[in-house]
Amino acid sequence: MKKQDSGSKPILSAKDTVVASDALKELFKDGIRDLYWAENHLVKNLPKMIASATAPALKNAIESHLTETKGHVARLEKVFELLGEKPVAKKCDAMEGLGKEGESIIQETEAGTATRDVGIILASQKVEHYEIASYSGLFQLANTLGLTEVADLLEQTLADEKLADTKLSDIAENEINYQAADEA
Ligand code: FE
Ligand code: ZN
Ligand code: FE
Repeated sequence: MKKQDSGSKPILSAKDTVVASDALKELFKDGIRDLYWAENHLVKNLPKMIASATAPALKNAIESHLTETKGHVARLEKVFELLGEKPVAKKCDAMEGLGKEGESIIQETEAGTATRDVGIILASQKVEHYEIASYSGLFQLANTLGLTEVADLLEQTLADEKLADTKLSDIAENEINYQAADEA
C-alpha cells in the first residue's frame, strides 16, 4: 500500500466522525422539514390549478397528483416518526416562489384557453423538477446516513414525482401545445 504523503488531510478520529455525522443528520432533517412545508403547500395550491385548467386530461392529471401529494405528506410524517421527530414544517421559499409563478401565469392568461393550460403545465413541471431534485438528494443522503427505511420511503415518492412529470410532458407534447399553437 502507498504511504500517504505529508500534504494529505489527516484522518478523522472516531469522535470527529460522530460530530460530522450529527451536523449532516441535522441538515438532512432540515431538508425533510422543508419538503414537508412544500408538500403541504401543494395540497393547498393544487385545487386552484385544477380549477384553472381546461383540458380534461390536464385536470385529471393534476387531480390524481393531488391525491398522491396527500400521500407524500403522510409518507413524510412516517419519515419523521422513523427519525424520532415530531413533524415540523420549515417554510420552503422555493416552493412558495414556484406557487406564485403559477398564480401569475393564471392571471396573465385567458380562462378556457389552451395557452393557459400550457402555462399551467410549465409551472407544474417546475414544481415536479424541484421535488425530484429534493427527493433525489435526500434519498442519497438517507443512504449515506444508513437510514434505509427512510430512504425507501423517499424513493417511493421520488418515483411518483418522476411519473407526474412524464405525464405532464406527454399531455403537452401530444395535445395541448398543438391546440395552443392553433389558438388565435
Ligand atoms: Fe410531492
Ligand atoms: Zn425549499
Ligand atoms: Fe409533485
